[in-house]
Amino acid sequence: MDLPTHFAFGLLIGLVFFASKPEAVLLIGFGALLPDLDREYWYVREQKYADEQFHRARFHNVFIIVAAFLVSPFLSIGVFIHMLQDSFTTAKDRGVEWFYPATRFVKRGLYDPNMKPQKPDPKEKVYFFQEDPLGYVNAADVDLREGDAPVPWRRVYGFAQNSHLLDRGFAFGSLALIIVWLAFPTSLSYIQNSLSYIRGNFILWLVGYGSIALLYMAGETQRRDKLPRVPQLKPIQFPLLVVGVALLALWFVLYRVAIYQNLQIIFADPLIIIVGTITVPVVTYILVKWYTRGGKTAIV
Ligand SMILES: [Zn+2]
Repeated sequence: MDLPTHFAFGLLIGLVFFASKPEAVLLIGFGALLPDLDREYWYVREQKYADEQFHRARFHNVFIIVAAFLVSPFLSIGVFIHMLQDSFTTAKDRGVEWFYPATRFVKRGLYDPNMKPQKPDPKEKVYFFQEDPLGYVNAADVDLREGDAPVPWRRVYGFAQNSHLLDRGFAFGSLALIIVWLAFPTSLSYIQNSLSYIRGNFILWLVGYGSIALLYMAGETQRRDKLPRVPQLKPIQFPLLVVGVALLALWFVLYRVAIYQNLQIIFADPLIIIVGTITVPVVTYILVKWYTRGGKTAIV
């Protein structure tokens, strides 16, 4: 879905559930903006980026939710909401690869999209059930196509087309509800509370949201350079990128005390984290071994 849609819905969720905590609202909005940075061409060379299908994978996965949680639980809520919304979009829009990069360990699908069995690969023991419908994939934006080789269906797709009714419904519906919420008399104390918070933390959030704006602008200048007959903006692309990354790093520095406190809470009992982190790969390993015992083929 579009960036304003993600932002509006993130803010709405923040306001509805955490109105008394303006910092949480801004963190959720911030988190909702982050995942689509994996679309920007500054991030990876363009052809490789299309071939490998990094958009809606690299910054749209459960591991990014965990990483965001280490900074703030509210940031991870923003990232999660973004991914949930993208999951409603079609195969053409490339859905969301929730379990990237783990999904990349499985290389094949057992059937094609018409349920024709595929020739098994003697090297592969674990398969996805089906291959991705190449027709839909090739109807996607040029920079999201995979090429002609079949790839397994490893993404979560939905029913709604990007930038159409549901997308706009989320955007305008969220804006309308935000206005309703702001207009409600009981919101007055929340608004005053929010304004005094923003006044006290203006630099922090100017730096945070400013960094995101510059990084998207850097990506936009490169995309624009591919179009004929528009002013080419290549000379400002690199400065935008450098300042954007520097501001993002500065945001982490400015927010370090809160991040440190969050990490202290999370790692208050490190043993449970360590045991938990070991348990998941062990269970995965045992399951894969069990399902592929005696040379059997396992399906994800
Ligand atoms: Zn996205």
